[in-house]
Amino acid sequence: MGMDVYGNAPISERGQYFRNNVWWWHPLWTYCESLAPELIPGNNLGHSNDGWGLNRRKARSLADKLAAAIASGHARAYAEKYEQRRRSLPLEPCDICAGTGHRANPPEIGPGPLLCNGCKGAGKVQAFESHYPFCVENVAEFEAFLRDCGGFQIC
Ligand SMILES: [Zn+2]
Repeated sequence: MGMDVYGNAPISERGQYFRNNVWWWHPLWTYCESLAPELIPGNNLGHSNDGWGLNRRKARSLADKLAAAIASGHARAYAEKYEQRRRSLPLEPCDICAGTGHRANPPEIGPGPLLCNGCKGAGKVQAFESHYPFCVENVAEFEAFLRDCGGFQIC
C-alpha cells in the first residue's frame, strides 16, 4: 500500500511522480504541514489518497520551504529528534495473544495453546507508531519532485 503523488504539469521526469509507502508518507506529510501551514490548511486531505493537492505556485513554495529547512539544518534536527523518539517508544502488549505469548487457534484471537505468530511468543510487540520512519533524504526527494511537478494530486 502506498501514496502516489502525480504531477499536474511536470517540467521534468522527476516532476511526474513521487511515491512513498504509507509508513513513509505520513511523517513526511506531517512535516510539510508543520513547516507550511500557510500553504497547507489544517483541513487538508493529504493523509488520505483522495486526490488532494497543491497548485503549481504553492507546490513550488513548498519546495522552497523544504529546501530552506534542509539547508538550515531544521530538517536534520527534526529527523534526529523524531528517530530518537521512535526508538524510545516502549513495546506494547501483543493484541493477538493478549500479551501471553500463546494464542488461540486462528482465526480466533486471544490466549490459547499455540505459540503466537504475532509476537513470536514474546507477548510484546513494537509500538504501532514506531513503524513510521522519517529522514532528510526522503524530504529532499519530495522537494525535487515538488519543484518540477507543476502542482500535484495525492492519490
Ligand atoms: Zn502475541
